[in-house]
Amino acid sequence: MRNRRAALAAIATAASLALTLTACGQDSEGGSEEGKGSTEGATIGIAMPTKSSERWIADGDNVVAHLKEKGYKTKLVFGEDDPDQQVSQIENLITQGVKALIVAAIDNKSMNNVLQQAKDADIPVISYDRLILGTENVDYYASFDNEKVGELQATYIVEKLGLKDGSKKGPFNIELFAGSNDDNNTRYFFQGAMNVLQPYIDKKQLVVRSGQTELTQVTTLRWDGGTAQKRMDDILTSSYKSERVDAVLSPYDGISIGILSALKSDDYGSKSKPLPIVTGQDAEVASVKSIIADEQSMTVYKDTRELAKVASNMVDAVLNDKKPEVNDEKTYDNGSKVVPAYLLEPVSVDKSNYQKVVVDSGYIKESDLK
Ligand code: BGC
Repeated sequence: MRNRRAALAAIATAASLALTLTACGQDSEGGSEEGKGSTEGATIGIAMPTKSSERWIADGDNVVAHLKEKGYKTKLVFGEDDPDQQVSQIENLITQGVKALIVAAIDNKSMNNVLQQAKDADIPVISYDRLILGTENVDYYASFDNEKVGELQATYIVEKLGLKDGSKKGPFNIELFAGSNDDNNTRYFFQGAMNVLQPYIDKKQLVVRSGQTELTQVTTLRWDGGTAQKRMDDILTSSYKSERVDAVLSPYDGISIGILSALKSDDYGSKSKPLPIVTGQDAEVASVKSIIADEQSMTVYKDTRELAKVASNMVDAVLNDKKPEVNDEKTYDNGSKVVPAYLLEPVSVDKSNYQKVVVDSGYIKESDLK
């Protein structure tokens, strides 16, 4: 089937050469048009994990917009955080004849069979944001530097506590939260954070009073805010009778909002009991509002518009038998192969820079923050 692609690409190249010859002075355009004839109007299947978080809705919309701009049709589905539902949605996309798949998996290990079906139908697969594990049938990975996300969160904590510059010695109390255990990003976020926090924990400048420091003890199934709220409630009851929590490592804004609810129910946020430092990720509207209101401390902004562009470019390149642009060919081993990746940079955001980073860039409308 690769031969078919090659043959189509050759025909398209000839067609584009003819175009270039007739439209002089449009050399640069001619290059990007190469191969278009083979894929013009092809349908691309996009499987996103859930509509319960605004980032995935925006991701879906942005991928659709970029692909349409390149002349593709799209079919966008959301799995509602149910791995079985997502797998059957992808099976349907394959049956409907999509020419490529962009998949942000719910359960990274649940894709083996369905991606074999994709392979058998010569459908290339882009793993979107979350790496799909345990199968060779993933062509490329588009994401952010996931370890850096955790590093940014943890660095914010040690800086704000005064531990980093040595102005304070502690000990400070911290609690740790991680994302869903079936999402491969979770371990990268947590590892990145622990690389920064562990030395302070070892020196007892940071103390985890719950004793829950292993990834398996701190994950939050499906990134659910309510689940995190309940865990924080339990920790406050069992480990903070007279002590106070000074910082909470939270991997995602929806989890941060849950943690903050538990803290506020325990009177944190009052004059005598200030809220701890609470991190986050995704720059969701509710969390940016919370940052402005001095509740959540920070979030990690990932420009998902750029991610959508990278993934769409990957699809376009693969379908035109070109090598997509990648910038990491060693980090993301999915157990079956090292998946070539393009990683974007995450940015730390708090009250001091949210305006510039998320509002002025057009990521969030100012009016949505009112
Ligand atoms: C994404 C995060 C997101 C989380 C929950 C992760 O895979 O990388 O941006 O916060 O899923 O949706």
